[in-house]
Amino acid sequence: MTDIIDGNSVAERIRNDFGASIDALKDEGVTPGLATVLMSDDPASETYVSMKQRDCEEVGIDGIHVEIDPDAPAEELYETIEELNDDPEVHGMLVQMPVPDHVDSRQVIRAIDPAKDVDGFHPENVGMLVAGHPRFKPCTPHGVQKLLESADVDPEGKDVVIVGRSNIVGKPLANLLVQKADGGNATVTVCHSRTDDLAAKTKSADVVVAACGVPELIDGSMISEGATVIDVGVNRVDADTEKGYELVGDVAFDSAKERASAITPVPGGVGPMTRAMLLYNTVKAAGQQNEVEVEL
Ligand code: NDP
Repeated sequence: MTDIIDGNSVAERIRNDFGASIDALKDEGVTPGLATVLMSDDPASETYVSMKQRDCEEVGIDGIHVEIDPDAPAEELYETIEELNDDPEVHGMLVQMPVPDHVDSRQVIRAIDPAKDVDGFHPENVGMLVAGHPRFKPCTPHGVQKLLESADVDPEGKDVVIVGRSNIVGKPLANLLVQKADGGNATVTVCHSRTDDLAAKTKSADVVVAACGVPELIDGSMISEGATVIDVGVNRVDADTEKGYELVGDVAFDSAKERASAITPVPGGVGPMTRAMLLYNTVKAAGQQNEVEVEL
């Protein structure tokens, strides 16, 4: 029987677990605050930001939302970031990507106070992650690590193949899983669009993580019997549904399920974990900035 890893229930458990930490902070007069900044009129970005704000409300984190006209000069965004950096009630901050073309996204990330960078994308935080003492684990990779833990899959000694080398998923996940630390100690191979014979790589893996943004690229024939499969991908494909599309992962779920011992669905796998880990990092940030011990 293949274990279908239920990201919704794992995320719910994590949210319950850090509920006690939010209470502990409130006892000290600190309500964790997360600021989201949106400089876009892309409907998907608007949806992501409103979901993050709703998540905050559900767990008792103060959500602060700032919208900036996408045609405004970049300076307006930098000024907003500066104000949020200086605001003691804001413990975590993120700027929803992508930003408009006239704004340099790397400069935006560098403008955020690293202590409030709950996405974990600031170069200082990337450096800390690579060095093995992360301040914040980036949300999606951390969520993948937690899903493996929930499925009793210890990466130690395992061959893990990650398909995708982006700065938000593939590379930080490789760093987390290779660390000499609990939840790490794996032997990691990172594949990308120039990888030769991808199927040979994925087939040799105990754990395959698909994060390439190509609908159903990884099918059952590319997975070894008994492997664990984590599907990070979220792709809209045309479909005969009310919305005119459906969401599919980077893994062909039905064929992969036949060979995998455990697999995440899309939706309902990694997605809810990414959202939960953002809240987790915000609680952690609030504790760090106020020197309140929080158990996470
Ligand atoms: P990017 O587009 O930034 O990166 C994709 C990576 O996949 C690149 O490294 C690319 O290689 C590689 N790739 C593309 N095509 C192939 C191929 N045919 N074979 C092997 N490798 C390939 O994507 P992201 O990392 O941002 O996102 C990946 C997926 O995960 C997307 O579907 C995205 O929607 C989803 N996602 C889901 C999240 C969640 O919470 N569930 C959060 C973040 C992302 P190269 O570097 O050579 O171009």
